[in-house]
Amino acid sequence: MFLESPPPEKDRLKPESSFNFSCHRELSCFNTCCRNKHLPLTPYDILRIISSLGIHSDDFLGRHVVYRPDPESGFPILSIKMIHEKAVCPFVTPEGCAVYHDRPTACRLYPLGRSSGIDPKDSRPEEFYSLLPITRCHGLKEEKAWTVSQWVNDQGLPPYIEMNDRMLDIVFHPRREPATPISESQQQKVMVACYNLDIFREFVFETPFLKQFGVDDHTARQVKTDNDALLTLGFSFLKNALYT
Ligand code: SF4
Ligand code: SF4
Repeated sequence: MFLESPPPEKDRLKPESSFNFSCHRELSCFNTCCRNKHLPLTPYDILRIISSLGIHSDDFLGRHVVYRPDPESGFPILSIKMIHEKAVCPFVTPEGCAVYHDRPTACRLYPLGRSSGIDPKDSRPEEFYSLLPITRCHGLKEEKAWTVSQWVNDQGLPPYIEMNDRMLDIVFHPRREPATPISESQQQKVMVACYNLDIFREFVFETPFLKQFGVDDHTARQVKTDNDALLTLGFSFLKNALYT
């Protein structure tokens, strides 16, 4: 997601740009879009889904995720492992999404796409929204109209965007050598600190990590039970491990 190129200028939407969309089970296409796709997972997506399923992060990664390193940066790119011969998302049910309240960023954005990055001219974060090139989504012919910013808020995207952009800060960190992919041992650190949160928590509390990393008592107490705080600590740890 965050490594994709921005859409062409003509396709970029503004916060006030509008589109029509409504998704509901009366549509003949209901549930047909939850298959046959590369469905990316960000660290925060995984945090939310494992909480929803009440599953250990290591089990989730083993059962539901495929991963490959990005050829340019070396950072792991994770996506949902589609199942059966029809390549269906494992969370789709006849009634809809089984993890709807905690569905991933890409599912919340749909039918929009968002690409974000760092402007090379002034190093400021930038983001672009566009309508995805979808042909078989009847929801786009519905009457309900949205602006981009209404859609983003209605779909509960702000905390996802905030956490995803923190990951972006790490991938596009000014100290990262753009022409050199991160090493395998650095990839392992990224996997544990960002995606395998239950293993990271064990690492934090069962090694001298807290002392070595100078974690104060208040943060340590939060990290014990709060996955958002744990992921935030993971991001800080990674910045330190990769760039100092
Ligand atoms: S194709 Fe569009 S309208 Fe149909 S289920 Fe998917 S998102 Fe909803
Ligand atoms: S996570 Fe839910 S909304 Fe997303 S593809 Fe799977 S079933 Fe569909």
